[in-house]
Amino acid sequence: MSCRLVILFLLKDITSISKGRENVTQYCLTILVFNLISSKVDYPMIRSEIAMLVLAILLSSCSKDTEVKPTKIPAEIPSNEIIRIPIVVHVVNYSPAPFEISDEKIKSQIEVLNQDYRRQNPDHTNAPSEFIDLVADVGIEFHLAEKDPEGNLTSGIVRTSSEVTGWDGKTIADETSFEDLKLYNTNQGGQDAWPRDQYLNIWIADLSDRHGNLVLAGYAQFPDCDPRIDGVVIDPRAFGTLPPIAPNLNYGRTATHEIGHWLSLLHIYGKDGDCEEGDMVDDTPVQLSQYTGNPTYPQSSCGSNDMFMNFMDRVYDESMIMFTKGQRERIRSIFNDGGSRRQLYLNTLNNN
Ligand SMILES: [Zn+2]
Repeated sequence: MSCRLVILFLLKDITSISKGRENVTQYCLTILVFNLISSKVDYPMIRSEIAMLVLAILLSSCSKDTEVKPTKIPAEIPSNEIIRIPIVVHVVNYSPAPFEISDEKIKSQIEVLNQDYRRQNPDHTNAPSEFIDLVADVGIEFHLAEKDPEGNLTSGIVRTSSEVTGWDGKTIADETSFEDLKLYNTNQGGQDAWPRDQYLNIWIADLSDRHGNLVLAGYAQFPDCDPRIDGVVIDPRAFGTLPPIAPNLNYGRTATHEIGHWLSLLHIYGKDGDCEEGDMVDDTPVQLSQYTGNPTYPQSSCGSNDMFMNFMDRVYDESMIMFTKGQRERIRSIFNDGGSRRQLYLNTLNNN
């Protein structure tokens, strides 16, 4: 084998090693020894010179490759790891705005999310004794985005004045085309979603009936939806804890609930009026139907006491106080390898 061929052969091996990125130094030395022994010199250059040349190439390649060896990212997120998700808030509002949606109001919502998803909400201790051990720290924190998709600095809040409402983002019929959903189209008075593998999109938009009454606090998309509509939509009066705010929707729990859907959770009662179809979570009791208002404990159905104080029921804000450990596991699994929001998780590792 010629000198040139020996070097080419070695370089080919180095290339294949760099793809594997495991025990790089050990592999390099093994190949060095193997090739020095097996090579035959046909050119005048003596063997020791060739060895020095090959050694220089190998060591420089090996050391460079070792320096860029990436941190291994586990397929399953460690149980103590906090996942930090950037939020972009798209405020779509009339001009002049009937609702003042201040930066402070938006920040009050972020604060609520960071309490509820970290079991820091003071009212979580109100859980009944039969459920208290199930109350979970989901281990997710949220913050307003600091960079936009182009990498420019941002407050994480983008404002648009238009007559587009929250109803312009709600898919009423399956045949509704994306172009008809003005809320998600910047060129129609709404705002385009930012990439869902980098952000949680929240649109704040009016959900009044024609009399101006709030009839729907918010809605959400599940993880496998169309990326152009991925996120949650919330009426200004159900967002944050500051005025304007609707009675009974004044603790910021609409966003906690809707983001629960965005993170794959189902309603705790599964299918309303059915004891068979649950929420795919083991530690939430089977529940016949939804609760509203402020129920008094205990309430029961389907042979057990109901966990109506869960964030994924439909009670008033002051009555919902907890996620369970089973819900936590369901949420976190979507960030594991192969999960529906894995890429978002991987991107948060670079940005946080
Ligand atoms: Zn819901």
